[in-house]
Amino acid sequence: MFIAGNWKMNTDVRSAVVLAASICEHVGPGTRTQVAVCPPYISLDVVGRAIRSSASPVKLGAQDMHFEDDGAFTGAVSGAMLASVGCHYVILGHSERRQFFGETDASVNRKTLKAPGSALIPIVCIGETLAEREANREEEVVSRQVRAALDGFTLTSAEHLVLAYEPVWAIGTGRTATPEQAQAIHAFIRGLLIEQFGEALGRAIHILYGGSMKPSNAAELLGQKDVDGGLIGGAALKADDFLGIVAAAEAVNR
Ligand code: PEP
Repeated sequence: MFIAGNWKMNTDVRSAVVLAASICEHVGPGTRTQVAVCPPYISLDVVGRAIRSSASPVKLGAQDMHFEDDGAFTGAVSGAMLASVGCHYVILGHSERRQFFGETDASVNRKTLKAPGSALIPIVCIGETLAEREANREEEVVSRQVRAALDGFTLTSAEHLVLAYEPVWAIGTGRTATPEQAQAIHAFIRGLLIEQFGEALGRAIHILYGGSMKPSNAAELLGQKDVDGGLIGGAALKADDFLGIVAAAEAVNR
């Protein structure tokens, strides 16, 4: 099980450290679930230090990166920069990046291919919009996004890639996919991963569900065979809620 918190454009440096410290306090070395927090860029360094000064195995992640190492890209941050402050993961292709910042399948692919060179594990986000779901096009959309993002990506260990299925209609809306809907599309994604990476690797890659997951619905979603964890937005901003989801993951850990 893998639970990652996407803090989006929330928290300042001070509140980010407080939130991270509360999480680290309760996620100790005995926790089997892999836990990561992804604060805004401005807080990565200080949150990384807070994590390292605790005994917690919580890992640090970023919410995006540029596909170049350096250069004249005002406002952008490279994978090497993220690694230098202790990032382990990077979220790529989040639907908000696609919707508000012009992220495309092609740019997600460039970033995904670049991440391992900076020792970053990409958390590649995919998911259909409400209109696409209502037109029964979710498999077509997800398959296009997965194939495009992973085009040319090679894998030696299943731990070096994470997928996050996030139906856009469930993000921040309070509307969650039913466990059956989540399982169906996760199984479909699993098939795509097996096709590309083979049976053993494809079966072992974490596929997270994201979209209004909270302590009250986490156990049911995480209990599905191909749901290997969660990417959490709103509920990641309150330590108690986030830890409630981690507890649900611990209970179903397999
Ligand atoms: C997200 O944006 O990754 C997400 C899952 O958000 P929320 O949990 O708020 O729906």
